[in-house]
Amino acid sequence: MVVDCIFCKIIKGEIPCTKIYEDSKTFAFLDIGPATPRGGHILVIPKNHYELITDLKDSDLIALTKTVKKISEALLQYGEGLNIIQNNKKVAGQFVPHLHFHLIPRFENDGFIIDRWSSNKYKEGEIDKIAGKIKSLLK
Ligand code: AMP
Ligand code: ZN
Repeated sequence: MVVDCIFCKIIKGEIPCTKIYEDSKTFAFLDIGPATPRGGHILVIPKNHYELITDLKDSDLIALTKTVKKISEALLQYGEGLNIIQNNKKVAGQFVPHLHFHLIPRFENDGFIIDRWSSNKYKEGEIDKIAGKIKSLLK
């Protein structure tokens, strides 16, 4: 529990939320500002406080993935499709520093805009250089 973390406070019941599911390691609730007008946008979080996906302990990984899958099964029936998004750091759109997965049910013409990015092109030789750099960073 991190004292000033809004999601830690939601888990503890100190801030109200619309809870969808809870087990010993994970918690799922409706995002207060759904990404589409049809709603049903759910946040799935670990009860232990981690900021980034890379902070997550292996001991919480399976439980979190299972809850993401469980909620996804419901949302794929609620909506027509589903996006799962997980932001890391401000530059990537993370505003709440408690690791969370956005599960966003999708509908035809639902107005959701960030699921299409403009496709860029690698310059000559650049693709191998970048792949080499990333591979060298793998642990
Ligand atoms: P991110 O930008 O990935 O950090 O997403 C944070 C999400 O938390 C946003 O989609 C907010 O709408 C949502 N959010 C913030 N405060 C609350 C709250 N009190 N209850 C439910 N969702 C919240
Ligand atoms: Zn927290």
